[in-house]
Amino acid sequence: MGDSIFVGGVVSLTTVDYPGCLATAVFFQGCEWRCRYCQNGHLQSLLPTESLPWEDILNLLQVRKGFVEAVVFSGGEPLLQKGLLRAVDDVKKMGFKIGLHTSGADPDRFAKVLPFLNWVGFDIKYSFDRYEEITRIKDSGKIAGKSLDLLIASHVAFEARMTVHEKMKVDIIVAALKNISSLGVKKMVLQKCRDRNENVVEHPIFSDKLTLDELAKCFDSFLVRG
Ligand code: SF4
Repeated sequence: MGDSIFVGGVVSLTTVDYPGCLATAVFFQGCEWRCRYCQNGHLQSLLPTESLPWEDILNLLQVRKGFVEAVVFSGGEPLLQKGLLRAVDDVKKMGFKIGLHTSGADPDRFAKVLPFLNWVGFDIKYSFDRYEEITRIKDSGKIAGKSLDLLIASHVAFEARMTVHEKMKVDIIVAALKNISSLGVKKMVLQKCRDRNENVVEHPIFSDKLTLDELAKCFDSFLVRG
């Protein structure tokens, strides 16, 4: 189908997925990357055995109108949905703000959808030349770099986030964050990684106050989450 939409799940009320707004999060099915710490493995398959009908999502949102202010498209990787523009258009027409959680895996679709977005949570996996060590996908860093350039040029409000996996090196993380700061990223969140049992996996950077202070100076807002 030309503009198919595969929904793998929905959270009808969330306070943490869109800054400052009560939101509904819609999780799209499918991701071509294979990040070492992915918590949404069940959403990676591009060929789901079942999908929630898009009409059901719209009906749910109709009921939530006036209570929920924003709808956040997450995943999986929402940019892989052929019907993403249609989904954004449907939800925008209902009066919701639109948020997108993405790793920037399809710059062309990102460019098309950006003018309709109110806020983006953009995942940075590592330094762009070492993305493959986390995503296990060749050239994923080049692709993400293109998408980040588009996002910065768009002036859509956004936050960049990096999840710190145990394989990641402090000096490479620092260089990566200084690089994206120089590109124009103003808000940055460093997130602790969780294992399959949802336990935090510690990393030396989180107890390295000097380094965290140095990084905080690179951004208008710098948070550690986890
Ligand atoms: S990009 Fe996101 S959904 Fe895809 S594998 Fe990585 S963490 Fe999982």
